[in-house]
Amino acid sequence: MHLPWVLLLLSIGVTILVGTDASITPTTMFTTTNTTKPGCQRKCGNLTIPYPFGIGNGCYFRDVFAIRCNTSYNPPKAFALTGFDPDEIYPEILEMTENQVIIRNTAVTSRCYDSRGIETSYIEGSLGMQGSPYSVSNTNKLTVIGCDEYALISGSTEITNDEKAGCIALCNLEVDQVVTQGSCLGSGCCQTSVLTGWQGFHITLTSLDGRRSFTNQSCSYAFFARNGSFVFGGASDLTSNTSVVLNRIMQQVPVVLDWSASADLSCDYAKNSSTSYEPYACQSNSQCIDNTNMLGYRCRCLPGYEGNPYLEPGCTDFNECAAGPNNPCISTAVCANNPGSYICSCPSGYSGDGKKSGSGCVKNIDTSSSSLKKITLGLGISLGAMLLLLVGWWMSSVIRKRRIKKQKATNFKRNGGFLLQQHMATDESAVARIKIYTFDELERATDHFNEDRVLGKGGQGIVYKGMLGEGRIVAIKLCKVIDEESQRIDLINELVIVSQINHRNIVKLLGCCLESESPLLIYEYIPNGTLSDHLHCPRDDFQITWKMRLQIASDSAGALAYLHSSSSIPIFHRDIKSCNILLDDRYRAKISDFGTSKSISIDQTHVSTRVMGTFGYLDPEYFLLGQFTDKSDVYSFGVVLVELLTGQKAIRSALKEDRSLTQWFLSQMENCRIENSRLLDIVDSQVLHEGSKEEFLIIANIAKRCLNPDGKGRPIMKEVLLEIEAVMSLHLPKAKEEVWPKSEQMVIVSTDSDGFTSSTTSTFYLENSSLSSAEASLLFNAT
Ligand code: ATP
Ligand code: MG
Repeated sequence: MHLPWVLLLLSIGVTILVGTDASITPTTMFTTTNTTKPGCQRKCGNLTIPYPFGIGNGCYFRDVFAIRCNTSYNPPKAFALTGFDPDEIYPEILEMTENQVIIRNTAVTSRCYDSRGIETSYIEGSLGMQGSPYSVSNTNKLTVIGCDEYALISGSTEITNDEKAGCIALCNLEVDQVVTQGSCLGSGCCQTSVLTGWQGFHITLTSLDGRRSFTNQSCSYAFFARNGSFVFGGASDLTSNTSVVLNRIMQQVPVVLDWSASADLSCDYAKNSSTSYEPYACQSNSQCIDNTNMLGYRCRCLPGYEGNPYLEPGCTDFNECAAGPNNPCISTAVCANNPGSYICSCPSGYSGDGKKSGSGCVKNIDTSSSSLKKITLGLGISLGAMLLLLVGWWMSSVIRKRRIKKQKATNFKRNGGFLLQQHMATDESAVARIKIYTFDELERATDHFNEDRVLGKGGQGIVYKGMLGEGRIVAIKLCKVIDEESQRIDLINELVIVSQINHRNIVKLLGCCLESESPLLIYEYIPNGTLSDHLHCPRDDFQITWKMRLQIASDSAGALAYLHSSSSIPIFHRDIKSCNILLDDRYRAKISDFGTSKSISIDQTHVSTRVMGTFGYLDPEYFLLGQFTDKSDVYSFGVVLVELLTGQKAIRSALKEDRSLTQWFLSQMENCRIENSRLLDIVDSQVLHEGSKEEFLIIANIAKRCLNPDGKGRPIMKEVLLEIEAVMSLHLPKAKEEVWPKSEQMVIVSTDSDGFTSSTTSTFYLENSSLSSAEASLLFNAT
């Protein structure tokens, strides 16, 4: 009945207590820390005694650390003070480590039986260490050798009492047949670990109930000692003489004790309640470590420090770099010692911790040079791209410029530029007279041919107002595109003719541009519009008076007379009409538009062409015969005179009958002859009261003669001019009218830097005005 209960109990005890705390394991022997207090005995026999242990007064930390060195042995033996009883047998110290003390095992329990199975001896072993810094280590094992025998081990800590564990040794065979050899295999022996922390233990051996009787005498043993140390001898262990086995145990299996600076204080408590009786043990540069499965604490040098943490002044810096080639840095790294640590510096171009145990030194990826490379590459690519763009842009602009140049050359050729060049080559003065402008210049002058700059549109093109670079205001005529050779000749013809003319009453041609698609002609700018505008679209605030009309008639007649007979080569205008008579700032007439003009040799009387001109002004003889003579211009001038006199348009569009002003006028004149008073009916009502009937009659008669269907019956322009001037003198009796002498009308072609005469002519114009100063001022006021 008792055996199962005991087995259960033992198994529970074993279950609770088995399992070791690996954190407290014997560590290396004191090597660097095996320092004894200065002035104290360092060794006892072969054993070094490190502080806090010591031999002799003042050489240990506290009394409990005192070591007795018995020199009666050879070599002397050290004994630990494990209790306060001076009569107690102190255990012999075999080894001392940083946290453990190994002592000789004397606590063995044994029991012997004779061959009849009767007990002959029983000795109990125990170890007492209460109050000492020692405790029994978990690394020990409870070992039992015997048959049908169980051992109980009991111990207590500072806070627990009578903890127990046990182990049963059974034998299936006879005692002398137990085969356990070298290690415990379960028959005739038993081993178990025990979770202790005990400050001492006591072992008992008990025979199992109903223990079998063995034929041989035998003994049983139980001990708690360093694991693995005992070499099992098999049956001989049970049958041999007790003293032999006990001696083997004492020699082979020591007991491992853990030691602490204090048996019962924690780090915090020891630090804060340090007393002279139990001062805090850990010196500088050391750390305090609480025991894990029992009370008490230990000291340990901080990492990077060495020495005895219990001995003043404490741990000292460990120079890791002093180990030469064995230092912790890899060979390429430079080792530099620090208090408590060290640094391994990698050579330049390498990075890492430089430690053998760490990442070592790794060659740097040369980020600076690689980024430099990237920057250089990026710059190169962008520069290359920019260069390509620039080259592309430059090439395209070169190609564009070439194309434009080619186009300009084509235009120049098409517009008769070569013809003009031929003229200029034969006539040197033409070079001075005709300035050739570039298209760009004229584009700038007209703000890219802005619609707002258009002065008017005619049959031959559009006229723009423009300002040249030098600030000169000009009229730029953008002619229609020239397609035919005849048109080209006509244009150059006009250019050459007009460039030769320099008369105050003829619009000056300043130059041309032939490199654009349509040729461009540059004229002096005449500010006050056309005679046609003033006659047929009169403004309310200003009207042309009879005197001004006479002056305009005189100016125009003078210009035509000059063209017909006074200029070096007779020129026929061929398109005289009120639209082509422009009025300058003083309302003096300037004949424009020489697009259809023809110069003829002196002995030539006419030019044969296809009929050109404007309906209403066209000479019927020229219309019929196709021969244009100076009298054709006289006819057209006659129409203008009738316009001036009657204020009516050349084509009286509103009327169905007598649509032609000429026809109507001539019929009216016929009636006048019959009934003289009817003349005043045809005179423009606006000027009717400004002139005398005689004046009107003379002008009407001049016009009538100009409109003679037979050209030969028409007067020449010089006669017309004289007659008009005569009328003017009639109208202005105070001012003795001067007829401009022929020589003065012919202004000698002189050129300024631009190749044109402008200021000299205008001075001449004022000085030689056919108006008296009073009349001139009258005219100016009217403007
Ligand atoms: P056509 O083509 O039959 O002669 P047009 O005389 O009306 O008709 P353009 O000679 O081309 O046509 O002139 C157009 C308009 O431009 C004119 O009516 C006039 O108002 C204006 N103009 C022409 N030359 C000048 C100039 N030198 N200064 C100021 N305005 C001008
Ligand atoms: Mg015109």
